[in-house]
Amino acid sequence: MTLRVLPGGRGQPDPPGLMIVGAAEIVTMAGGPRRGSAQAEVDRHEEAAVGGRESDRAPVVTAWDGRIVAVGSRSDVERFVEGAGYPLERFARVDAAGGTVTPGLIDPHTHLLFAGSRERELELRQQGAGYLEILEAGGGILSTVAATREASAEALAAHGRRWLDEMLGHGVTTVEAKSGYGLDLATELRLLEVAHRLGAEGPVEVVPTWLGAHAVPPEMRGLPDPTEAFVRSLIDEQLPGVAAQGRAVAADVFCERGVFSADQSRRILRAAMGFGLRPRLHADELAPSGGAELAAEIGATSADHLATPSEAGIEALAAAAETERPVVATLLPATTWFLMKDHHAPARTFIDRGVPVAIGTDFNPGTSPTPSLPLAMTAACLNLRMTPDEVLAGVTINAALALGLAEEIGSLESGKQADLVIWNVPTSRQIPYWPAADLVRTVIKRGRVVLDRT
Ligand SMILES: [Zn+2]
Repeated sequence: MTLRVLPGGRGQPDPPGLMIVGAAEIVTMAGGPRRGSAQAEVDRHEEAAVGGRESDRAPVVTAWDGRIVAVGSRSDVERFVEGAGYPLERFARVDAAGGTVTPGLIDPHTHLLFAGSRERELELRQQGAGYLEILEAGGGILSTVAATREASAEALAAHGRRWLDEMLGHGVTTVEAKSGYGLDLATELRLLEVAHRLGAEGPVEVVPTWLGAHAVPPEMRGLPDPTEAFVRSLIDEQLPGVAAQGRAVAADVFCERGVFSADQSRRILRAAMGFGLRPRLHADELAPSGGAELAAEIGATSADHLATPSEAGIEALAAAAETERPVVATLLPATTWFLMKDHHAPARTFIDRGVPVAIGTDFNPGTSPTPSLPLAMTAACLNLRMTPDEVLAGVTINAALALGLAEEIGSLESGKQADLVIWNVPTSRQIPYWPAADLVRTVIKRGRVVLDRT
């Protein structure tokens, strides 16, 4: 089987209409973000039991000019398309060949851009070293910071393209990409610029997030209160520069005991909100640190990791979920797996308490070097005890909500961006069921075929 990534993004002629036929199942995720018992409702359209693939009742999805037109049975959709004045003969047919169709997957948490690799830490961890011990020894994130500061924009872009192609090959059409391996203004700006440029190139859409508060940089560690000094420099110097550049759309902070306190995180995120950046947090990954509470207090779009939230933090997220601005619990089970931890984020509690749950890879060189969102989906099933349908909501419409993009992507509904994947399995429930298999047949981004393995 050959993998062909077709040219995508800008400069292409307007796409014709598309009609995807021959699907055993189309899962739309229509109806908005999911929480509570609705996290498992995926809106599944299956082929009628009677009739072949071209039967009138077989499910189809149509797109025109990059937008979804209609989803439903073939006869209903054709009637609708013609009735609405579209030229039916200009809809190119794409054969799903008995596969399943889902919205394009959305990875709501990655550290896409960095230089170097850290395979040595796998062995250190096997010998018992913890994340903070590796950090304090000057390894871990600081070794990536040193390599990234040395890397040119071209080198970072080449690295980014390589991993975005991998992600696309796993059915991902939108990726959040954090900075945070520069920690100085020049490198952070370079990372954000490259993230923006890669998204403009396409076909994968990239959402840049400023994570200046990822760790205290080595040059400040000799100061009397290095963390506080760095927080002040982030707010007074780095953030205004990032805002002036205009590439980042969100701001993130590593709120964790021993890294940035909840109070320091609040000050950074409030300042970032003053520049119009959406707030989000790395919260309560290693120890309860007030991250979930802070996320609810400031109206963060997403609180991420959440392996060890306090009861008060869970309560705060549950209360926020009842409001107009819920905080998405973005859980990262590939990270806990790769760190060989046996304590997992309480996904079932979040779902029971009505908190919307999303799933991401946390792609990064230290704690989760996997670009495969379907593999993270499997980990969510096995370790977080989420059902395949709940997980699918977590990598589509709820991941879109975590990025503030739920009106535009994450479901197959009339008027939304036509981002979708045809999988070589007859039901979406098989996507997490075959771990690490290559199941993607075709990827469509903004109404254009951008990857085709047929
Ligand atoms: Zn992360």
